[in-house]
Amino acid sequence: MICPFCRHDDSRVIDSRPVEDGTQIRRRRECPQCSQRFSTQEVALLNIIKRSGATEPFSREKVLVGVRKACQGRPVNEDDLVLLAQRVEETLRATGQAEIEANEVGMAILAPLRELDEVAYLRYASVYRNFASLEDFEGEIALLRALPSNSSTPSSASKTTASSSSISGKS
Ligand SMILES: [Zn+2]
Repeated sequence: MICPFCRHDDSRVIDSRPVEDGTQIRRRRECPQCSQRFSTQEVALLNIIKRSGATEPFSREKVLVGVRKACQGRPVNEDDLVLLAQRVEETLRATGQAEIEANEVGMAILAPLRELDEVAYLRYASVYRNFASLEDFEGEIALLRALPSNSSTPSSASKTTASSSSISGKS
């Protein structure tokens, strides 16, 4: 790392500590040339590949905006949403990928949102997964009934379509 004071092309790390729940590392550095000290911060790259193909840095705020909309009028508080966004980021970072498709972010939101509020989950899923008919809702509701929300289901399971025979009531 180049010294920002004298442009010497090397510096020594004198301290390293995790910040932001360990998702970032702050390093204190010292220049062997001019002895000035400075800090650097290291954060793993996490880019989202949008449907257009463009990439942008992952933003917890964007996750928040999406789930906040789905939770309107629901008994969910802001702290729950902040925690959810944090869990989504942790899930995505745990994949170890530096670039993640936007729809994977959607998938990562579904599971914790379902635990938080099933109505908000349905709203979010209906937009995110392009529910086109009542049958789509019925199928999803049948899944919700069949799988208790506290059993953590792999995200791929939610792609399974419920057979219409398992839906009681309207047809
Ligand atoms: Zn220097």
